[in-house]
Amino acid sequence: MLPRSELYDRLIKSLTGADALWSRSGARLEPGELACRAGCFGCCVGLFAIGLPEALALRRAVAELPDSARASVLARATRAVARSAATFPGDAASGILDPDRRDADEAAWLEVVRGVPCPALDLPSGRCAVYAARPTTCRTYGLALRAGDGVALPACELNLAGAAPERVLVTAIDAARLAAVDQALLEAASEAGLPAGAETTVAHALTGTAFAAL
Ligand code: SF4
Repeated sequence: MLPRSELYDRLIKSLTGADALWSRSGARLEPGELACRAGCFGCCVGLFAIGLPEALALRRAVAELPDSARASVLARATRAVARSAATFPGDAASGILDPDRRDADEAAWLEVVRGVPCPALDLPSGRCAVYAARPTTCRTYGLALRAGDGVALPACELNLAGAAPERVLVTAIDAARLAAVDQALLEAASEAGLPAGAETTVAHALTGTAFAAL
C-alpha cells in the first residue's frame, strides 16, 4: 500500500511523464511552427474531464496556495461549478461525471462551459495557479494527438498553421504513450487504496466536492 503521504509526489512524478511527451514531439517542430507562449491561455478556457488522480493532485496544490490566491481560485471554481450544474452529465453535487454519459448530454454540457475560464487561470497574467499539478490535458494540449497512423485530436489552430497533415502527424503526441501516463496515475491512486476510475472536472476538484469523502 502506498502511504497517502507519498501519493502526491508520486502523482506529480507521473504527471511529468506527459511533459516528456510534449518535449519529445516539440523537438520535431521547426522554427515558427509553435505559437504557444507565456500569456496565451486560449487552451485554459472551457471545462473538461480529468481523472481522480489528477483531481487529487489539484486539491493538494490549491491547498498549498497562499490564502488570498487560494480564495480567488476557490471563488472562481465555485462559480464555474454553479454555472455548469444544470447540464452537468453526472452527479452535479459531487462533480462525478457519469461514466455512461451519452454523447449528446456531454455535448450539451460542453456547450454551456465552452466559454468558462478554468478556475485555476489567473487573469490578466494568464498564469496557471496550480501549474506544477496541472492535468495531463494541460501538459499535452497544443500539439495533435496521434493514434496509429491517424490524428485523433487536432493541434491548436494557432500551432502548425497551414501545415500539411503529414507534418501535423510527425509532430503529434503518441496517444498510446499518453495512455501509459494515465495508467501510471491510476496505478498510484490504486496503490494508495483509492477508487481510481472516476472522472470529474478541474472546477469540482478545486472546490473539493469531487471525492470529498476520500
Ligand atoms: S489547470 Fe492550469 S493549465 Fe490547466 S486549464 Fe486550468 S489554468 Fe490552464
